[in-house]
Amino acid sequence: MSADFDDLLAANRDFAADFNLSGFDGVAHAGIAIVTCMDSRIDPLRMLGLKPGDAKIFRNPGGRVTEAALEALVLGVHLLKVERILVIPHTRCAMASATEQEIQEKISASSGTDASWHRFHVVTDQVADLRHDVAKVRTHPLIPDSVGVGGFVYDVDTGLLDQIV
Ligand SMILES: [Zn+2]
Repeated sequence: MSADFDDLLAANRDFAADFNLSGFDGVAHAGIAIVTCMDSRIDPLRMLGLKPGDAKIFRNPGGRVTEAALEALVLGVHLLKVERILVIPHTRCAMASATEQEIQEKISASSGTDASWHRFHVVTDQVADLRHDVAKVRTHPLIPDSVGVGGFVYDVDTGLLDQIV
C-alpha cells in the first residue's frame, strides 16, 4: 500500500478518538436535501446552520440536477425523510464560466490525451439552468408536491444565498 494517504489517515485517527456520531440512523434529521457544486469554497451544512446528520448532500460539478441527483432526491424523499430540497449553484463557478469546448481543451492539454469525446455539462446561463433544474425536481413523478423545492445561488465572496426560484 502506498503512503500517499498517511496524513489523512493520521487525521482520521484523531477524529475517531473522540467520535460522537455513532449510533445514529441515516435519515436527514432536519428533513433537508441539498444539490450543490463540488467547489471547495462551499460548506453546505455550515452555510445553512445545519450539522452532521441533518441533511442529504449531493454534489457534482456545477450543482446540476442530473439523473444521479434525481436518483438521490427520490431516495431522500421516500426513504430518508427529506421534506425540503435546495438546489444551489454558486458565483464564479468554473462550470459556468467556460464553454464545453474550452473545458475539453484544458483537459486535453492537462492529460495529453484527446478529451473532446467527454461531456462536462457546462452551464451557459446559470439562472435559466437553475430554473430548469428546479422544474425537473418539482415535476418529477416520484417527488410529491408536498416537498418544498427552491433554487438559490450561493455567493462565494459573501457567503450569502440568493433565492432565485
Ligand atoms: Zn462550481
